[in-house]
Amino acid sequence: MKKSTRVNHQPSVKFPPGNKSLISPIYQSVKFTYPSIAESIGAGGFDYTRDSNPTTRQLELLAAELQDRDDAVAVATGMAAIWLTMLGNLESGDRVLIFLESYRPTRVAVRKFLPRLGIEYSMVSIHDHDAIKKELAKEDTKLMLFESPTNPMLQVGDIQALVDLAKSNNVVVALDNTFAGLHNHGQFEVDYFIHSLTKYANGHGDTMGGIVIGSKEKIRRIKPFATNMGPTLDPNAAFLILRGLKTYYLRYRQHSINALTIAEYLHAHAKVKRVNYPGLETDPGYALAAKQMHDTGGVLAFELDANKDQAWKFIDSLQIFATTASLGSTESLVAPVRLYLGSDLSDDELQRSGITDATVRLAVGVEDVDDLIGDLEQAFAAVF
Ligand SMILES: *Cc1c(COP(=O)(O)O)cnc(C)c1O
Repeated sequence: MKKSTRVNHQPSVKFPPGNKSLISPIYQSVKFTYPSIAESIGAGGFDYTRDSNPTTRQLELLAAELQDRDDAVAVATGMAAIWLTMLGNLESGDRVLIFLESYRPTRVAVRKFLPRLGIEYSMVSIHDHDAIKKELAKEDTKLMLFESPTNPMLQVGDIQALVDLAKSNNVVVALDNTFAGLHNHGQFEVDYFIHSLTKYANGHGDTMGGIVIGSKEKIRRIKPFATNMGPTLDPNAAFLILRGLKTYYLRYRQHSINALTIAEYLHAHAKVKRVNYPGLETDPGYALAAKQMHDTGGVLAFELDANKDQAWKFIDSLQIFATTASLGSTESLVAPVRLYLGSDLSDDELQRSGITDATVRLAVGVEDVDDLIGDLEQAFAAVF
């Protein structure tokens, strides 16, 4: 073999029997082959990474197990997971029910882009069970997509009640479970769990990913769309997310402990009007969260007793909390809620959401909580 050929047909390294790598390799390969055409037919193996890849499959199987289901489709981002769930379950003439309290890009997808495909939507509050009942009873309602706790205002939905209402109307239930995490809510009869793996699963703010998790039968419905559309998660990203997941439980626990400590600090502060954090005993969602979740995560929202300029100055004064959207990575972040997460809402919708110019969202990291409280303290001192 000439050397210019050899570089394209590299030597393979063989393991002696019983010898193996402790960490699974990254299958950074688009294509997979067989010794003969006959052996490739119906073998159920790997062919092409847009369809399936061993590293990505390892992530799918692990995430499905954490969420108490048996199958999953991993994709490149959380938004791709939301789109995949919608396109796999809706067609022209159908209606989707979403909630005022949802993540902004989800609202934008449903309110701005779905109508172009002839798909209608209804949007009500997650707490308004009468309105939910009415929307679910509409014959064209086919999918209900909700979050708990919601991004950015940490509203806790009554998942059992919501699932019961949807099931009694034969409506498919999709829960964007990004805030609650892979270890929560598996006990409910949710058809599709959606996660942005960009957040707690990867956990280090350096890789994007998304996943849709469900029973084999539910995943069979949406998998052909993923293979054809191609929102494929790269195997290297899947590897990094698998690595992140090794510390998932440790991190989620510490995020939750730190967030509760900060929520209690803010709740007692004279310049804070209210704190939204379902782990806080005074929070309206506390009892429900205590019943349906284990740990309540690292994100909280609060309203400063301040005008917009003061609120922005408070955020700008923080040194450890970096100003940006996103959450679930080890470092702490801060976001002005109205500007970053409520810009598509009307004044009436903002009011109903409890979002003002002085609403601040913290994504609390896993740093020493004394340093985080010290940072908040000096920002309060800088403004008031
Ligand atoms: C971040 C987020 C998404 C979108 O995930 P990306 O990976 O950024 O596309 C969806 N839902 C919720 C609740 C999120 O916080």
